[in-house]
Amino acid sequence: MSVRRKVPRLTVVAVGCACAALLGAAPSQADPGTDDTLVGPSATAAEPSGEPFGIGPTATDTFGGYLPEGATLTAFDVENPTVGRLDPPLLAAVQEATRRAASDGIAVEINSGWRSVGFQQRLFDDGVRTYGSVETARQFVASPQTSMHVVGRAVDVGGPDAAAWMARNGPRFGLCQVYANELWHYELTADAAGACPPMKPNATG
Ligand SMILES: [Zn+2]
Repeated sequence: MSVRRKVPRLTVVAVGCACAALLGAAPSQADPGTDDTLVGPSATAAEPSGEPFGIGPTATDTFGGYLPEGATLTAFDVENPTVGRLDPPLLAAVQEATRRAASDGIAVEINSGWRSVGFQQRLFDDGVRTYGSVETARQFVASPQTSMHVVGRAVDVGGPDAAAWMARNGPRFGLCQVYANELWHYELTADAAGACPPMKPNATG
């Protein structure tokens, strides 16, 4: 993929100069900026790695549900689509659990929630590159076709002791850890008695 350049505007002042430097010096226009700008420009923004993501169906929104490294939300940050587009019963359960955890001195953060198909595809493609094969990647990251994040039915919790608190108390709110190798990933899968189904070993199970 070639580097996308926005040529105009500078042209007038650039006449007669060594323009390559100037043209390369307009990167602020590609800056994804704040969260509320992530959805709009995604179809035209350059892929962060500069490579095409060729595996699976093409999806134009590759940023929906993306959170910058280190950014965290709580279950009450519903203006952010990561939280706001969660399935309402899951959102309500996570909010209830978050309140209860706070009364125990534990801050439950949301590291990931709803994700667009394109963003999940990007994560999966990254996983394939990291782990070297589709088969191995599937153990660590779900495809857009199987990820419950894409349908707003999964959250990844974070914060000191939050996952441990959730492991003990989540089922009371219907929230279960689903994969043995993902201590942070919760879905609303408990039965009416608060019992969770057997954990799967990983995302392939
Ligand atoms: Zn997850």
